[in-house]
Amino acid sequence: MRNQRMYDEFLELVQTDSASGKEDAIAVKLTRKLEELGFTVTMDDAGPKFGGVCGNLIAVREGELEGALMLSSHMDRVPNGFGIKPVEKDGVLYSDGTTILAADDISGVCAILEGLRCTIGSGRPLPRLEVVFTIQEELCLGGAKVMDPSVLKAHVGYIFDSPGGAGRFINGAPGRYILKAEITGKPAHAGNAPEKGIDAAKTMADIISTLKQGRVDEITTSNFPHLESGVGSANINVVSDHALIEGEARSRDLQRLLDYVEYFRAHCQKVADEHGAKIKVTTEENFLPFLITEEDESMVIAKAACDKLGLPFETAVLGGAFDGNIHNARGMACIGVATGYAKNHTTEEQLTLEDFFRSGQLCAALIETFADRCKAQ
Ligand SMILES: [Zn+2]
Repeated sequence: MRNQRMYDEFLELVQTDSASGKEDAIAVKLTRKLEELGFTVTMDDAGPKFGGVCGNLIAVREGELEGALMLSSHMDRVPNGFGIKPVEKDGVLYSDGTTILAADDISGVCAILEGLRCTIGSGRPLPRLEVVFTIQEELCLGGAKVMDPSVLKAHVGYIFDSPGGAGRFINGAPGRYILKAEITGKPAHAGNAPEKGIDAAKTMADIISTLKQGRVDEITTSNFPHLESGVGSANINVVSDHALIEGEARSRDLQRLLDYVEYFRAHCQKVADEHGAKIKVTTEENFLPFLITEEDESMVIAKAACDKLGLPFETAVLGGAFDGNIHNARGMACIGVATGYAKNHTTEEQLTLEDFFRSGQLCAALIETFADRCKAQ
């Protein structure tokens, strides 16, 4: 069934320009909408930490019941998310083909607002509700990463930011490390005495050509798209004295991720030693993996909410990360909720309206099901 309120709000918000670091126009609108629903809204100081203009919005509505529930989605979008003109065709929304649609993640924002309107409007007793609209999610989960977790009391959260139909929940995601190797060789005249040099470019090539990468195993991947080498001058008559390898590794299992990071370090060192080159390997934890089992309270509530609406309950673990990675690492059981979008991050992005409207109902059902399990204060 068509939900004109959600539809209109989606059009309003996707036609409000936004980008990572420039979420302020959306934030102003969302602050007003949340205040109208009785929330106390604050903006944290995360924005300037990344050179952005806007912080995370954290909105709290104290409840009549014991317990707290977090609902979250993100305000930024990938480029090009300016001047979006949505077009509806056969129950599906698209952009006009020149931009993304920004259903990732405005559909999530709208699902949460709809769920709040339905449940708060019903007048039923509710737990404390914590709504977090983050910034810079598309830039490695930046906003969630720097937000102060102590402002949240919830131990269960739902992140409305996943592709697929209503009733699909993302109960796990890989962790990720950023890997870098800087190689230092020794320059020499390429014509007169190449054997006196230590070739950084060749060392880099040997490292990459013998490195286990791509699909490492069924749940572990790696990718090294940035390779650079050169010499101090622009000449090609000098043996290369520096090179750089930059990439990432992901795994759904923390131990396998750490094992790969260690393998990368050892492999780089071994090949560099063979060439007599110096090497500096740096490995940086970007986010940690998580997996939530079906027995967890967050999943039990999700399944019950689906049953209430007659939606098929489905779980999936994808290859990408979302703000849930950050919250789970901090001890909150946090799962992703699909809102009907597909082909996000492309100009072919689309939103199936029936699933979108149902994700609003699903948000209300999650709040109600959570409330049913809370005691009166
Ligand atoms: Zn997203």
